[in-house]
Amino acid sequence: MKTLPTVDVVIVGGGWTGLLMAKELGSHTALSVVVLERGGPRKTDDYGEDMDELDYAIRLGMMQDASRETVTLRHTASQRALPLRQHGSFLPGSGLGGAGEHWSGICPRILPDCFELLSRSIEKYGSNRLPEDHAIQDWGVTYDELEPHYTRAELLLGISGKAGNIRGNHIEGGNVFEGWRSAEYPTPPTKIPYFSALFRDAAKALGYHPYPIPAATTSPAYTNPDGVARAGCTYCGFCERFGCMIGAKAQPTNILLPVIQKRKNVSIRTGAWVRRIVHDTTQSGGRARGVSYIDASGEEAFQPAELIFLATWTLNNTRLLLLSQVGETYNPASGKGTLGRNLTHQVNFPAATAFCDKPLNRFMGSGAAGVCISDLDGDLFDHGELPFLRGGTLLALSMGFRPIANFGVVPQGVKARWGSEWKKAALHYYDRTGSINLQGEHLAYRDNYMDLDPIYKDHFGDPLLRLTLDWRENERRMAEFAIPKAVEIARAMGAKEVTPFSGLRSYDATRYQSSHVQGGAIMGSSPDRSVVNPYLQHWQVSNLFVLGASAFPQNASANPTPTILALTYRTADTIVNRYLKNPAALA
Ligand SMILES: Cc1cc2nc3c(=O)[nH]c(=O)nc-3n(C[C@H](O)[C@H](O)[C@H](O)COP(=O)(O)OP(=O)(O)OC[C@H]3O[C@@H](n4cnc5c(N)ncnc54)[C@H](O)[C@@H]3O)c2cc1C
Repeated sequence: MKTLPTVDVVIVGGGWTGLLMAKELGSHTALSVVVLERGGPRKTDDYGEDMDELDYAIRLGMMQDASRETVTLRHTASQRALPLRQHGSFLPGSGLGGAGEHWSGICPRILPDCFELLSRSIEKYGSNRLPEDHAIQDWGVTYDELEPHYTRAELLLGISGKAGNIRGNHIEGGNVFEGWRSAEYPTPPTKIPYFSALFRDAAKALGYHPYPIPAATTSPAYTNPDGVARAGCTYCGFCERFGCMIGAKAQPTNILLPVIQKRKNVSIRTGAWVRRIVHDTTQSGGRARGVSYIDASGEEAFQPAELIFLATWTLNNTRLLLLSQVGETYNPASGKGTLGRNLTHQVNFPAATAFCDKPLNRFMGSGAAGVCISDLDGDLFDHGELPFLRGGTLLALSMGFRPIANFGVVPQGVKARWGSEWKKAALHYYDRTGSINLQGEHLAYRDNYMDLDPIYKDHFGDPLLRLTLDWRENERRMAEFAIPKAVEIARAMGAKEVTPFSGLRSYDATRYQSSHVQGGAIMGSSPDRSVVNPYLQHWQVSNLFVLGASAFPQNASANPTPTILALTYRTADTIVNRYLKNPAALA
C-alpha cells in the first residue's frame, strides 16, 4: 500500500454533503482538503440529448452498480438476509455529485417538533401511547437552532416556493403549518402543471391548505450568494433520475463544484473507493489517522489526514464505520451499542391513482413541480381517537410522465389484462392518469437496524451491509387513515375512477419508495444512545465527523436534503469557529 503525503482534511464522498463541506472549508480556511469519490467525474455538459428513459430511469445509469456493491435485506432478525441484486425501493447514487445529480429537488423543511419527537410525544400523549418497541429519540438540536442554516441552504440552492410562516405571520397560499422561517423563499414557486392544479383546487374546496411544493428546480434564472448563476426550469420532464441538461436543477456539480474549482487548497480524486477509516481507537476513544482506499488504477493507498469526514450517504457511512470497527455495534437483543441502530425508510406510496376524463399533459413537468397539503402531517391534526401517531403529506407531483415506466396503468374497471381491450384502455388512460402520494413519517424501532452480513461480500471481498427492516402497525394504520382522504380528493378532482393503494404489508424492496433511508450513525445528546454528537462529531473519535441522513434518529415526512445541508453548514461553522481553535470534543 502506498502512503500519500498528509493532508489537513480528507472528505470521503463527493455528493451534497461532501462537496458542501469542501466548499466551506476551502473558502473559509487555508486547510488542505482532499475529496475522495468512488465514482467518476461529472459536469453539466455530460447531461445531453443522449439521456433517455431506458438507460437512466430504467437501467439506472447514474446509480451505484449493484453487481459490485449492494445490501442484503431481511424483515426480522430470525430470517436469513438475501442480497438485493437490483436496486428497487431506494436508489443509491455514485459519481461526483452523488444522488444530488439525479434527485428530484423537492425541498421542504422538517417540522419543528420532529427534532424533539420523543420528549414532545411523551409530553402530549404519555409514554404508554408510544409503540412498545419504539426507539425514537430527540436529535440534540432544535428547529430554532437550525433555522438560519436552513435559510442559507435555500439561498444556496435558490429554492422556489411560497412561504407560509415568516416569523409567525401565517401567509395564505404557502404552507401555513410549516415551522417559522426568517425569510421568503429565494425564488417564486414553479409553474403548477394541470394535474397538480386540479389537486390544488379540489383540496382547497375540501377545506385543506394546498401550497406549491418547494423546489430546487428553480423557477426563474437565479444567481446564488456565491455568484453561481443557473437557468430557469423548462419543465422538460427529464429530472428525477437524470442530471439536468441545462443546469436548472440545483446539483452539487453545478452550484458547489464551480466554487471548489477556484479554491487551490481543495482537490478532488475520483475513482477513489474508500474501504477503511484507519484509527488508533478503542471503544472508549481514540483518533482517526486517515483512510485507506483503492485508487482509479486499482492500487491501494493510505491517505493520512488530521480531520476526517464521512459523507458517503446513510448506508455507506454506517458500513464504513462497521467495517473499520469504529464504535460499538448495536445489538438489538441487549440494546447495547449504538452503531447501526434506528434504520428507517420514509413511508411513501401512491395513496390514490386518479383516472381522469381529459388529457393531463403529463409529459411536461419537473422533479419537484406540484402541489402538496400538510394538514395530515406530523401532529397537526387530532390523534386523540386514532390508532397511530404522526402522519404525512399528500402530494400531487407533475414530474414528467415516462412512457416505459408509466404506460399500461388502467382503472380497476378494465378487466382485460392483455389484448385489444387492454391496449385501447392503456392508450386512452396514458395521459389521463396521475397519483396522489403519501409521504409519511417512519418511527424508529428497536428491531430495525443495520449490521454486517455474515455471508455476502462486495467485489473487494468486504462484507455487505445487512438491513433488518419491516413496517409496524403504526405505519400500516397511518396508511389506512390517509388512503381514503386521498381517494376523496381524487374524486373531487373529477376523476372518473380512482384506485386506492392496497395498503402497507411487509417492507417491499421492489417498489420504489424514495431514497430517504436514514439512521445507523444517529445524532443525539448522549453517547449511550447516539453515534455522533449534535455537531455530527463522533463521540469517541473527536477528529471524525459523519455527515448526512445517517444522523437522523427517525424519518420525518419531509424530504431530507435541506436538513442534511443545514446540518452540514452548522458543522462547518462549528469547525471553522470552534474546533480549529481547540481540536477537541465539541459536546
Ligand atoms: C432518485 C432520487 C430522488 C431524490 N429526490 C430527492 C428530493 O426530491 N428531495 C430530497 O430532499 N432528497 C431527494 N433525494 C435524496 C438526496 O439525493 C440525498 O438526500 C442526498 O443526495 C444525500 O447527500 P449525501 O451527500 O449524503 O449522499 P450522496 O448524494 O449519495 O453522495 C454520497 C457520495 O459518496 C460516494 N461514496 C459512497 N461510498 C464511498 C466510498 N466507500 N468511497 C468513496 N466514495 C463513496 C458516492 O459515490 C456518492 O457520490 C433523492 C434521491 C434519489 C436517488
